Amino acid sequence: MSAAPLLDRLEGVRATGPRGWVARCPGHRDKTPSLSVRELPDGRVLVHDFAGCDVHDILAAVGLSLRDLFPERLRDDFKREQEPFPARDLLKALGHETLVVLMAASTVAQGVALDSDNLDRLTLAVRRIREALDLAGVRHAA
Ligand SMILES: [Zn+2]
Repeated sequence: MSAAPLLDRLEGVRATGPRGWVARCPGHRDKTPSLSVRELPDGRVLVHDFAGCDVHDILAAVGLSLRDLFPERLRDDFKREQEPFPARDLLKALGHETLVVLMAASTVAQGVALDSDNLDRLTLAVRRIREALDLAGVRHAA
């Protein structure tokens, strides 16, 4: 049962169904069980705190991560889909690459042809922007 590692770390666990539980949320001072844990048929575990704690905080409080909510066989998929670069890093990279594009554009706007180094750098910028979009799971036109 893939919910077991999480349930073992929670307090006040009570079954609400064959694959459902409530427990006290480790993310806040939870007097009444406000954490809902559900195990899906494919083995993934859903966690929801009705008091509003973020799932990352809840898991961190018991020493687990989102990855632990996925059964072994789905973890490779999880890695691909759910562990891209942190959004902040992606945005920083995008911000930098758009400056490269802007500089190339303003060079051309001044009537100066890009030399091959600058053209290579512009091509790299476009590639990096596209890679960032891919990593973020954003589909773009060819
Ligand atoms: Zn909570």
